[in-house]
Amino acid sequence: MIATQSTVFLKKYFGYDSFKSGQEELISSILQGRDVLGVMPTGAGKSVCYQIPAAMLPGVTLVVSPLISLMKDQVDTLQQIGIPTTFINSTLNAEELRERFRDIKAGKYTLVYVAPERLESERFLSLLEELPIPLLAVDEAHCVSQWGHDFRPSYMNVGRLVGRLRKRPVVAAFTATATDAVKADIVTHLHMNDPFRVTTGYSRDNLTFSVVKGVNKKEYLERYVRSRKNESGIVYASTRKEVEETQRFLERLGLKVGRYHAGLSDEERQRNQELFQYDDLKWMVATNAFGMGIDKSNVRYVVHYNLPKNIESYYQEAGRAGRDGEPSECVLLYGPQDIVTQKFLIEQNEFDEERKRIEYSNLKAMIDYCHTTDCLQRHIVRYFGGEDVPACGRCGVCTDDREAVDVTEEAQKTFSC
Ligand code: ADP
Ligand code: MG
Repeated sequence: MIATQSTVFLKKYFGYDSFKSGQEELISSILQGRDVLGVMPTGAGKSVCYQIPAAMLPGVTLVVSPLISLMKDQVDTLQQIGIPTTFINSTLNAEELRERFRDIKAGKYTLVYVAPERLESERFLSLLEELPIPLLAVDEAHCVSQWGHDFRPSYMNVGRLVGRLRKRPVVAAFTATATDAVKADIVTHLHMNDPFRVTTGYSRDNLTFSVVKGVNKKEYLERYVRSRKNESGIVYASTRKEVEETQRFLERLGLKVGRYHAGLSDEERQRNQELFQYDDLKWMVATNAFGMGIDKSNVRYVVHYNLPKNIESYYQEAGRAGRDGEPSECVLLYGPQDIVTQKFLIEQNEFDEERKRIEYSNLKAMIDYCHTTDCLQRHIVRYFGGEDVPACGRCGVCTDDREAVDVTEEAQKTFSC
């Protein structure tokens, strides 16, 4: 019964005929009042899992979301399809805030998006206490864990909120990637009650992973980008300086590439992102600041010019390739200097001892990936504790015949003795 009703809402508001994997189970659990934890890859359709219940339940659904830019997009989309939605974040002035509060209290909205920092405000919390909130949705829930790749201390406030509301809301947490340690942190810190869990496909069957060692990175990159200059790609580097140098280097070769990092003006970042989005720039050299929120489907290549700090970041960044399902490549260029850089970045951060230990442990897992003799796709899926998958048959390890050659040589030596 509930299932049919949610299918009607899916069609009515979003225009889709059927649910994607996991969505229906998550929605019906929420509607039955059970907490849920959905770990599903980017593009799996996590948003409708809380948007549909929000539209079906009386009261206001609160959505905690980390990015102001994404918030605005989501709010605009929901407004357009007829689900009254608004947001509360630091872009509003005092007058606007007052007005929003008034309208939310008056029951004008079905969904309200909030930045986690808002939940530090006593005034905001006391407003929330007065509202009927049947559902609290937490997007990018891995941000609540120090083990995650994007820890945000302000996410800790979400758990406190759960305890303060008059009636405990259903808590629905979503993320694209979470190891067992991250999942455990989400459940604990968000004060979740035995959540119903859905974890779907970590495996990306259209991606070919490889780790390239022992090469001159500049030469390799030049050849790589030249031979693919008409298709779209992203080159990730660890530091702003490295982005600048790499972009200038490729530009001097006559290649049209953009740059993106947190040190550029808002205007330049926005412009470069748009040029890339609309294919006026085929290649982008960027730090990890270029990420959440970009939604370009035809990225054919993601090259990591440096070792990322952990597998979570790597998989998220590499996973921006091939969102359209077409075959795409993810190449990681690995050199010994990378470890020095990553260690430097950890030390520079003045983390406490515990956090430092976690960062080093995550970095070690990243280095292990570069040395694994297992299928690279399978190695990643196992890292996240996902379903058992067969070797992909495409990646750098699966297609590497060096070991076989070595064995042959060994065998020949043995024979010649
Ligand atoms: P995620 O947050 O998991 O990355 P989104 O919620 O942004 O994914 O959804 C990705 C895309 O999939 C959106 O364009 C959304 O409209 C679409 N989508 C969601 N549910 C369905 C469905 N049942 N059938 C087809 N497309 C869907
Ligand atoms: Mg999402």
